[in-house]
Amino acid sequence: MKLTTQIMVGIGLGLLVGLVLHGYPVGISYVEPIGEIFIRLLKMIIIPLIMATMVTGVLSIGDARKLGRIGLKTFLYYLVTTVLAVVVGLVLVNIIRPGVGLELGAGQAPDLPEQSIKSIFMDIVPKNIFGAMAEGKVLPVIFFSLLLGSALTMVRERASGVVVFFEGFNAVMMKLTDWIMRLAPFGVFALIAVLVGETGIEAFGSLAKYIITVLVGLGIHALITLPLLLWLVGGYSPLRLFRHVSAAVATAFSTASSAATLPITMECLEEKAGVSNRTASFVLPLGATVNMDGTALYEAVAALFIAQVYNIELTFMHQVIIVLTATLASIGAAAIPSAGLFTMAIVLNAVGLPLEGIGLILAVDRVLDMCRTAVNVWGDSCGTAVIARLEGEVLR
Ligand code: ASP
Repeated sequence: MKLTTQIMVGIGLGLLVGLVLHGYPVGISYVEPIGEIFIRLLKMIIIPLIMATMVTGVLSIGDARKLGRIGLKTFLYYLVTTVLAVVVGLVLVNIIRPGVGLELGAGQAPDLPEQSIKSIFMDIVPKNIFGAMAEGKVLPVIFFSLLLGSALTMVRERASGVVVFFEGFNAVMMKLTDWIMRLAPFGVFALIAVLVGETGIEAFGSLAKYIITVLVGLGIHALITLPLLLWLVGGYSPLRLFRHVSAAVATAFSTASSAATLPITMECLEEKAGVSNRTASFVLPLGATVNMDGTALYEAVAALFIAQVYNIELTFMHQVIIVLTATLASIGAAAIPSAGLFTMAIVLNAVGLPLEGIGLILAVDRVLDMCRTAVNVWGDSCGTAVIARLEGEVLR
């Protein structure tokens, strides 16, 4: 059986077992460690994998000017797709109006960690690279690896030992990823079983229209916008790419974390789709951390939903501000579960909406998180394929 099929079976069985275990915490506690170990294994390799792959990637790109060219394309592509996603979300929420006339009990603002636009940019530069690695902060590690790789290209001869080290290290990390990926069906099974077992399916009633708005938006972005771009700009078949990366998308759905999924996305794009390490190693880790189309779309829908529930009229100008801040908030969101929920404070603050509004949508956030993370990873994959094609690569 193919790995993706196995993962799908894992999701299905997880759903069934979760329904059976609903209300039996003891049963759930037996399944939980399997999912936890799977997530831990993925997290264990993220930081070394990013370092190894980005340093070797920059080395094979060769010089700073070429890196700059790929960087510019990547940046533009990611920005355009994210803004498109927000716009789709805004249009839908204005048409469906899921929050109008909804009577929900007063929400309570969850404890939000400090998030400001300034801190998003400041955090890119680590105070201490080992500290950043120990805390699993991806963006500073990317920043450092890019610098390290660039410096290595300049002193290649004198540092040939370091070059050989990183190339070997990268090969080893890919092998480890391969092993961990084989465990995905079990991990995914456990994650879904625990989720369904703990939440059941009651919480969704009153928020159904809101959930549907988000899902329709994500669907339009994933099934129409992104495939069209891939086809028109990259000249590559969306269906074929989906077949290559479906294991990554399914893992993203189950883990709700683009970062945890990154090793698998990497493996799928390089080993199956045939994207060069040179492109994937640069475009993909960056995408996993800053390119979150699903999150951006969700933030826009959620902000307007909250405005509608509180009966707060937002002008066209407000909605433009939401496009900007939702884009920034998605860039700033860490690639971990629920991160988008927290950075939403940026959007709400910018247009003067009450933070308590977040309390209203908390109950259904996990499921939406899974769906938006799947779209995030699909977006990164399409982006990587498009950039690879623009760089003249022939994909499988
Ligand atoms: N969980 C998402 C991700 O990792 C981020 C979010 O919360 O929207 O991509």
